[in-house]
Amino acid sequence: MSPNAAPQGPVGVFGGTFNPVHYGHLRSALELVEHLQLSQLRLMPCAVPPHRGEPECAAEHRAAMVELAVAGEPSLACDRRELMRPGKSYSVLSLEEIRGELGSGRGLCLVMGCDALLGITDWHRWQELLDLAHIVVIARPGWTFPASGEVADWLQAHRLDDRRELHRRACGSILVEELRPLAISSTEIRDMLAAGRSPRYLVPEPVLDYIHTHSLYG
Ligand code: ATP
Repeated sequence: MSPNAAPQGPVGVFGGTFNPVHYGHLRSALELVEHLQLSQLRLMPCAVPPHRGEPECAAEHRAAMVELAVAGEPSLACDRRELMRPGKSYSVLSLEEIRGELGSGRGLCLVMGCDALLGITDWHRWQELLDLAHIVVIARPGWTFPASGEVADWLQAHRLDDRRELHRRACGSILVEELRPLAISSTEIRDMLAAGRSPRYLVPEPVLDYIHTHSLYG
């Protein structure tokens, strides 16, 4: 990860299993950098997912693929911190570490898809997330937000309409961003590979080469 992120804008952190990383993740990441004027967006592979079974593909491979995918794009980076930390990869722990590194005044945005937002109340110490960062939710086709309940109330209490607020405050707001929809999922890529079909043009070429070299998802 580059420690030389431009100092001005907020830093974004995009967590996921990235099993494997694909153009849906990467295009969304780049659009977020541009829309929100982030100084950097870090893709942070989860080592031990708290809410799903541990992926068969080792975290080391998943992180290596993220690194290959972002190489050459200075606004994107891979953050490997969850691979270094034992135990479940709780986002709140990563945000605490990053907040400690950035200091209290710098904008920090945790990026998630709206599928992740819907399950947020199951996250470890979820109510502390906004004390550490803003949350940026990617609106994905086919997903809608609940009209009532705990998540709806939370969204309503903290939702922003003005992106500029992310630059004025270090944490505390939720922004929903509509990005170019790309109907790509890691599940589909794994299924294609398992069936002997090619996911070419859905993942970057160096990622595909890595998958073949290491005989992943076969
Ligand atoms: P899987 O199919 O294994 O569940 P995935 O493709 O959803 O994987 P994850 O690594 O689980 O990828 O996702 C990390 C984050 O990226 C999630 O918050 C998810 O909502 C988001 N995401 C995944 N695919 C896309 C896409 N095509 N466009 C925008 N966001 C995406």
